[in-house]
Amino acid sequence: MQIGVLKEAFPGENRVSVTPDTVKKLAKLGAELVVEAALGEGSGFEDQEYVDAGAAVASNRSDLLAKSDIILRIRKPETDEIGHLKQGCIHISYLDPFNEGDLVDALAKQGISAISLEMIPRTTLSQKMDALSSQANLAGYVAVMMAANRLNRILPMMMTPAGTLKPAKVFVIGAGVAGLQAIATAKRLGAKVTAFDTRPVVAEQVRSVGAKFLEIDLGETGQTKDGYAKELTPEQVEKQRQGQKAAIAESDVVITTAQVFGRKAPVLVTRDMVEVMQPGSVIVDMAAETGGNVEGSVAGEETVVNGVTIIGQGNWSNNVSRDASQMYSSNLYNMLNEFWDKENKSFALDRENDIIKGCLITHAGAVVNETIKRRS
Ligand code: NAD
Repeated sequence: MQIGVLKEAFPGENRVSVTPDTVKKLAKLGAELVVEAALGEGSGFEDQEYVDAGAAVASNRSDLLAKSDIILRIRKPETDEIGHLKQGCIHISYLDPFNEGDLVDALAKQGISAISLEMIPRTTLSQKMDALSSQANLAGYVAVMMAANRLNRILPMMMTPAGTLKPAKVFVIGAGVAGLQAIATAKRLGAKVTAFDTRPVVAEQVRSVGAKFLEIDLGETGQTKDGYAKELTPEQVEKQRQGQKAAIAESDVVITTAQVFGRKAPVLVTRDMVEVMQPGSVIVDMAAETGGNVEGSVAGEETVVNGVTIIGQGNWSNNVSRDASQMYSSNLYNMLNEFWDKENKSFALDRENDIIKGCLITHAGAVVNETIKRRS
């Protein structure tokens, strides 16, 4: 069974889906690893390290696509690549299947078994394979680093003979995986942190990392069985906006991470709220790529509105690509290892298994995922 690892083609993407350490572990399972030349150059892994770990290096991408029984990568494939994939191969990556209907259809047509890492169910057993979480964790850290870097103040309190500087105020909207990491990171740097989330269970988690939870009564909110937020009604969104207005106005940094799975992110920070922030303050819109939580943020860019810097860069974990690669690579290894058929030295696609049921999108010529089928 040949496992092919593709170099990420997306401009500026430095992460790599498989590190040399993971090659070693996969080789121990009996897999034959072939990695694309210069695979790890963005994260500082040399081809020779892959060779030493037991992989072959291929310089012809089409050949690698055509010969691999399993393809590993981070980003979704380009549609024009799909015709080159070996029929029946297993393709594991992010897929964005809610928004990529044509891509999903093309994968089905080519007979690919496409696994979407976004769709791994959020259970205790699957946590070790959950790339969304591992990358979001790093993203939360990166968001604080970027804000600290742009802010015209320091985060901690500082008492010096020249006077006392008050700690900066940070407000985090959405305290899931990325938000909690942002809170913890800002706390470690000495900021005074407040946070809000619509899921009531989060209040305790926020307090446990030392931040204040902003109480806003939105009526019934709750979460799905997978731990995701339920979408708010327009009235609830308005209540939330009003409830957090004062906290935003007095904050030096606002970090927004609010997402509703499979839907456009809600706009929670409106232009008038940005305008009352002090010039020199910073907003990091971690949802910029999925619609944006902040009015005026631009996906992939940094903008300035009334002296307030709004960062909508996206692909946050790419800023710490080496650690991000290591975590993503471990997620992939954990998945392959979990379903590895040791006798046949191959990946066993157990269609009855709940994890596979959740994340397998196409198989044997059809779209097989119930959630995605319902959407199309
Ligand atoms: P996410 O990226 O979908 O959303 C980020 C946060 O935004 C969530 O906490 C959500 O509640 C919040 N949000 C949505 N609308 C909001 C609004 N209007 N205002 C403020 N906040 C809003 O979620 P995530 O961070 O990937 O994960 C959410 C939760 O899922 C985690 O906190 C955890 O409980 C659970 N989870 C479980 C596992 C597991 O068991 N394997 C793995 C990862 C996450």
